[in-house]
Amino acid sequence: MHYFEYKGNELHCEGVPIKKIAEKVGTPFYLYSYKTLVRHFNVFNQAFEGIPHLVCYSMKANSNLALIRLFVNLGGGVDVVSGGELYRAVQAGADPQKIVFSGVGKKEDEIEYALKAGILMFNVESSMELQKINEVAGRINKKAPISIRVNPDIDAKTHPYITTGMKQNKFGIDILRAPMAYRLASELPNLKIVGIDCHLGSQLVEVDPFVEALRKLKQLINDLRQQGMEVHYLDLGGGLGITYSDEEPPHPYEYASNILEEIRSFDCTLILEPGRVIVGNAGILVSKVLYIKENEEKRFVIVDAAMNDLVRPSYYGSFHQILPVQEGGREEIVADVVGPVCESADFLAKGRKIPRLNPGELIAIMSAGAYGFSMSTNYNSRPRVAEILVRDEEIYVIRKREEYEDLIRGETIPDFLTHS
Ligand SMILES: *Cc1c(COP(=O)(O)O)cnc(C)c1O
Repeated sequence: MHYFEYKGNELHCEGVPIKKIAEKVGTPFYLYSYKTLVRHFNVFNQAFEGIPHLVCYSMKANSNLALIRLFVNLGGGVDVVSGGELYRAVQAGADPQKIVFSGVGKKEDEIEYALKAGILMFNVESSMELQKINEVAGRINKKAPISIRVNPDIDAKTHPYITTGMKQNKFGIDILRAPMAYRLASELPNLKIVGIDCHLGSQLVEVDPFVEALRKLKQLINDLRQQGMEVHYLDLGGGLGITYSDEEPPHPYEYASNILEEIRSFDCTLILEPGRVIVGNAGILVSKVLYIKENEEKRFVIVDAAMNDLVRPSYYGSFHQILPVQEGGREEIVADVVGPVCESADFLAKGRKIPRLNPGELIAIMSAGAYGFSMSTNYNSRPRVAEILVRDEEIYVIRKREEYEDLIRGETIPDFLTHS
């Protein structure tokens, strides 16, 4: 459910015609609906009412300050995976006591930064990391709150690039080795065990893998508690999928009710780290058609957005629905929708049935709110696009379009090259 819909023949975001925004800010741009963001967060959060829980928005899905602040205002915490993300979360006004820090390769300076900021917990992914965090905490006289990220070896049945909870993935500590890691943690003087964590992967469209993981974690928690360890937080990670085309992921209520059933009588605070399910369908990428080109075999619609703006189709072969901003009874054609980047992998859609588009027309690439802007780059020296938030009738530029000067910030030509 989202607030991108046709009124008359014109695609709108809430109360605003998208064409009007394009006239104001140019193309391409990301466009987010405030109402949709609020609704998605609240639905997810309220689904877990009845048990102690904390929703830590996984900000790598979309790390714009305005979005983080919006979720913080609704009571959310944040799941960060780098020092840079922690910095953004703090700048956005997140409560450090609601920040969890995940990731397999935390560096010493990032650990120190997080300790000084006073985060809720580190989700630790190896024994060596436990030792490193202990060492850094000792040096600056802190006690580091930790959970161990357990790899439960469960097939999440999603794209191999975004499955994270199987033995062959780099993430977490193998569930059979986790008790050993907890024993080590309990012996390290500057660590405080506070919880347990797992994250199975992304774009999961079934609830079973979550339940299976939860059962394994409960078992492990019971074992740890018997050994006198305190496990207060159970972090189930993120990963709930969304509908891009014909996927039918469980509704957050169904997802939550399955989890609640397992955990209701279990004494712990549940942490959830949703990303995609909150922002994915709350954002679109708006682009303009530049040229049409055809040969005997193919038809290409060349648009001004490219793989550097939205990499998911090129990287994962992902499907994004493409809609004309101006609807009209036109015949359908089959075409590749491609960008200007000099790579054959630069496409937004392949062999797609779309209305016959004309140069100058606007298109909406749907479901682009998650892993869209946050994965964008400057490849081909393309300035990164603007991000716009709409609330009712109002338009807010929450990130301005980069300019050419932004592209060379920090670069220098050594003197010897200019004095020849
Ligand atoms: C990416 C990630 C998430 C969010 O995943 P979604 O599929 O966007 O919900 C949550 N937790 C961790 C540790 C992650 O790496």
